[in-house]
Amino acid sequence: SHWVFDFAEGDKSKKDLLGGKGANLAEMSNLGLPVPPGFTITTEACRAYLAEGREPDGLADQVSEHLDKLEKDMGRGLGDADDPLLVSVRSGAAFSMPGMMETVLNIGLNDESVAGLARQSEDERFAMDSYRRLLQMFGGTVLGIHGEHFSDAFDQAKDDKGVTDDLDLDVDDLKGLVETFKGLIREHAGIEFPQDPREQMDLAIRAVFDSWNTDRAVLYRRQERIPEDLGTAVNIQAMVFGNRGMSSGSGVCFTRDPASGDQGEYGDYLQNAQGEDVVAGIRNTVSLADMEQIDKTSHDELLAIMKTLEAHYRDMCDIEFTVEQGKLWMLQTRVGKRTPEAAFRIAVHMADEGLIDMDEALSRVNGEQLANLMFPRFDDKAEKKLLGVGMNASPGAAVGKAVFDWATAVEWAEQGEDVILVRKETTPEDLHGMMVAKGVLTSRGGKTSHAAVVARGMGRTCVCGAESLDVDTREGEFTVRGGKTIVEGDVISIDGSTGEVFDGEVPVVPSFVVRHFEGEEVDQPLVQAVARLMEHADSKRRLKVRTNADTAEDAGRARRFGAQGIGLCRTEHMFLGERRQLVENLIVADDERGQEAALDELLVLQRQDFLEIFEAMDGLPVTIRLIDPPLHEFLPDITELSVAMAVADVRGQRKKRQRKLLAAVQRLHESNPMLGLRGVRLGIVIPGLFTMQARAILEAAAERIRGGGQAQPEIMIPLVASVRELDLVKARIEKIAHDVETELGQEIPHKIGTMIELPRAAMTAGEIAGSAEFFSFGTNDLTQMTWGFSRDDVEASFFSTYLEQGVFPVSPFESLDVDGVGALVRRAATDGREANPDLHLGVCGEHGGDPLSIHFFNEVGLDYVSCSPFRVPVARLEAGRSVL
Ligand code: PEP
Ligand code: MG
Repeated sequence: SHWVFDFAEGDKSKKDLLGGKGANLAEMSNLGLPVPPGFTITTEACRAYLAEGREPDGLADQVSEHLDKLEKDMGRGLGDADDPLLVSVRSGAAFSMPGMMETVLNIGLNDESVAGLARQSEDERFAMDSYRRLLQMFGGTVLGIHGEHFSDAFDQAKDDKGVTDDLDLDVDDLKGLVETFKGLIREHAGIEFPQDPREQMDLAIRAVFDSWNTDRAVLYRRQERIPEDLGTAVNIQAMVFGNRGMSSGSGVCFTRDPASGDQGEYGDYLQNAQGEDVVAGIRNTVSLADMEQIDKTSHDELLAIMKTLEAHYRDMCDIEFTVEQGKLWMLQTRVGKRTPEAAFRIAVHMADEGLIDMDEALSRVNGEQLANLMFPRFDDKAEKKLLGVGMNASPGAAVGKAVFDWATAVEWAEQGEDVILVRKETTPEDLHGMMVAKGVLTSRGGKTSHAAVVARGMGRTCVCGAESLDVDTREGEFTVRGGKTIVEGDVISIDGSTGEVFDGEVPVVPSFVVRHFEGEEVDQPLVQAVARLMEHADSKRRLKVRTNADTAEDAGRARRFGAQGIGLCRTEHMFLGERRQLVENLIVADDERGQEAALDELLVLQRQDFLEIFEAMDGLPVTIRLIDPPLHEFLPDITELSVAMAVADVRGQRKKRQRKLLAAVQRLHESNPMLGLRGVRLGIVIPGLFTMQARAILEAAAERIRGGGQAQPEIMIPLVASVRELDLVKARIEKIAHDVETELGQEIPHKIGTMIELPRAAMTAGEIAGSAEFFSFGTNDLTQMTWGFSRDDVEASFFSTYLEQGVFPVSPFESLDVDGVGALVRRAATDGREANPDLHLGVCGEHGGDPLSIHFFNEVGLDYVSCSPFRVPVARLEAGRSVL
């Protein structure tokens, strides 16, 4: 196999094979940009290594061939004692996993070549500093020694000398550290640091392969839904040094602001430093504007390259670079991660600039980002006590109790607390805490620090580099310079859009985007970008978007959000509260007259319910589902009632009504109520309920029409398994319709259809379609019934184990199980349409608002999706994207 590719052999389309970093290094090399030469070991080699537990045959030879070529190109040998070639060994998967996997720099240094490097560079301090960095990274990454052993020894050396800046350590101090670090390796790994450069390199390559399976990498992939089996590529590249004095440095930059989407370059630069110092946020960086003052030539060249890259990739690029003694080198580029706000704004800007068209712009945003922008933000008018300001690294308004380590964050979050994770800087270890926290606050590091990059990726609110806060994670507190101390458990609020940190709980208000959807004029660049892309999505989409709403208020909001009707009005809530009594009356009634009296009272109330909804949705279709849940949900709890009865018995106060009620509750009690007397089964066993509802719907529609409005009721029968069930209740509804039309002397347009939410219904959809004018897929029940998962129980009980073990990548209640449940949907849609070409098809389970599922529903040819009001804009956007 072809395991190793020279940079010149690759390009950006080979991401799966060369990883993102390798493919983009190749692309930049081919563009003629100043990239230090090197080669990439493929992800295929990593997969082979992980499968067999050893390097695949031929890999070592191919590495040797490419290393020979690299040595020739550079005119130096790896680890040569007089003038050593040094290389970096870096991971790089197809999907970027920032900070999750390993990198080792300065491979090739040993006790001899460090002297060669010192002579060649005429800088012994630099050579020693490079060696101690190698020992530190090699010890941590390759040998698995805890990083703190090295950083503690480093801090100790500074303490001993009475200095705080790394740069105040001189050659002798660094020589001492080199010996200390070698001792740490001996002590903790039980081996001598390998002096053979090739052995160093081979061990580093293996460590990168292995890092694919570290806990934090596995966790990150699960969070980001990155497949488990891709493996990482390994990039081996000639070293260039940002730590060769003040005319050297390292930086990270973006071609546009990744937080706001503002046009114009954005970046951080750090003099006399290697790249990891910038990303780790260990020392504070300067802006690109300041870099211009420091080194104008490199700065100008960098800006020119940024323009080239953006035009070439036609997207915002994220770039890592190094300046070595005044010479600029490009170390990495990729299409940059961005906040949801930046995604919308950049897409529209680029379309306006003519870099991309509107279809492309639409493909670059997604429903999850839009959902994110619909989160509330802090109330401008609220009183706030400012504690400090950092960088606005990832937007949102987060309120929670301050915690200072990831373990506490996890523990408290599990107890239902909202927490803000506060750290000096975050490391990949903190990932777990970042996932459960409402927000992340750090006192060091810029917008390109680990905390910022990871938080943006997760859509987590983040403020970083709040330098005026003195964070003491050991004590579990932070102190505002010259002011208040916040201890673990104190509530703070952080604004990821402004970088502000507030004391206590700040009230939140709806987002600008929501206010825009509500119909307000909102003069914000973000809102304009969202509006443009929504308009484009609406002009593209084939799927209609309806809403699940059972109050006039929800219906009204959904309509303002763009809903084109109601796809599911659940009627069961209309039987709760005071109306419960009427359901009780119905159930305990002694005779038909008693039942009818109870139903008549319900009829009046239901008619009013439906009338209000028809008003809110005037002119649009409204699907009303007849009562679905088991009746005992409307009755008192069996145990409580039994106890009450026993007490009443003792006191001799037992009442006739209570006795009847208990009898009814006992009669209706079921071990598996979701598989019991519910849905259409209720309609068959207690016909009066369904016919009362049908009458209320039709009378309300008639009234609306008489009042000059338009009502388009669609009466929907739940939980049908067989066409016979549907026929039985349909005949009764049709009779009611006929009666009402005769009584009122008025035609009432209406449809009668069914939900498809049982596997049997899906498998016999051809027959059912003969009796239905529409199907609505109830994918909640269909998922429950297909997998045999109780939807009320399993997510809390064993789903985390199932997700961990890879039974599915995401809960099938959240995103449709396309292979199983989806196959049933597809078959029912096909068979249903074949039997009845006029059949109208929709979906009203939770999946109707889920981006991935929406793409599937578009593909199988449904007519609409229906989702909760707040998901309506998300569904519109995704429906538009699904046809691109
Ligand atoms: C469904 O089962 O998908 C559905 C929409 O109905 P409910 O969630 O009310 O059972
Ligand atoms: Mg259902």
